[in-house]
Amino acid sequence: MILSIAAPMLAWYDRARRDLPFRNTRDPYRIYVSEIMLQQTRTETVVPYYLRFLSLFPTLRSLAEADTETVLKAWEGLGYYSRARNLQKAARILCRDFDGRLPEDPEVLLTLPGIGPYTAGAIASIAYDRPCPALDGNLTRVYSRLYGIRDCVDLPDVSARIRDIAAQSMPGVRNGDFNQALMDLGATVCVPGTPDCARCPLGDLCQARKDGDPEALPVKSAKKKLAQKQYAVQILTCLGKVCLFRRTEKLLGGLWVFHLSELPAGFPEVSPRLPGKPLPVSALKRDLLGTARHVFTHQVWEMTLIHVPLLDRSGLPPVIEGGRWVTSEEMHSLPMPTAMRAAVAQADRLLTP
Ligand code: SF4
Repeated sequence: MILSIAAPMLAWYDRARRDLPFRNTRDPYRIYVSEIMLQQTRTETVVPYYLRFLSLFPTLRSLAEADTETVLKAWEGLGYYSRARNLQKAARILCRDFDGRLPEDPEVLLTLPGIGPYTAGAIASIAYDRPCPALDGNLTRVYSRLYGIRDCVDLPDVSARIRDIAAQSMPGVRNGDFNQALMDLGATVCVPGTPDCARCPLGDLCQARKDGDPEALPVKSAKKKLAQKQYAVQILTCLGKVCLFRRTEKLLGGLWVFHLSELPAGFPEVSPRLPGKPLPVSALKRDLLGTARHVFTHQVWEMTLIHVPLLDRSGLPPVIEGGRWVTSEEMHSLPMPTAMRAAVAQADRLLTP
């Protein structure tokens, strides 16, 4: 049986909704940008990025026409950079094939790069009031507790059941508000760990609350262990400049990094003969600067930071592999990932006369 949750959820939303900048617009482009930024990122983190991004790219067309490096720079620090690349790819497709408009149909939205079922449902319901659920981890948690679902939510038949409940729960009117009400509930009341059931508008309907153990739900499959990677990060300097490389790999693609060499697992110490990608120039010496660590979703980078000072009286040595010699100021104008933050601080120190 499907519970009637629309009325209490909408009444609660009218009373307690979070005041967020993307709540004050029906502009599909602005809603689209906010939903892409909110994928895998906390709302408090997104707000300043959202405001700055829209001041730089106020329309879909301005984003489509922007230089990709400028878009990545505006995204710097937010992580998951494929979101920014896909957002711009989709903006270019929309300007070319859809007259610069975001489609209303969630099935068409799903054909755009970077848009999955959650984002398609969120855009279609919030911007166009389509009765589509926007089911993410937060809503899965709310529904699994509400219906007392004790099977693992990662199993295909269980996730299909939750999708079905979510689709049948849509009110038909104020669909965007309904989805945003559930998002707020999952973010502020029905939180992971111990929920605040006393404040919940669905308290009287909730099976997990009746059972007395809402914190035990949802049941999820065990998390995979993160892969551990070791990298030598070599900071090449010469004549007041540092050498950066534009990444072509999928992870952090399009961003600028120092010279990275992946080391074999358990590589014991920094050695002048580092294995992995050879340096694009010959170096006489290396100085160990320290270590840094960065945790991605699926892997952890343990990094050894090394200074490679190059002495060349005839000018900057030529570099291969898409390298570029830059000043400290130029380095800060390029999009660089947070994983390089410690190395950037070292490079700044090394370049200071
Ligand atoms: S009553 Fe508690 S467990 Fe149930 S939906 Fe509300 S906050 Fe979540």
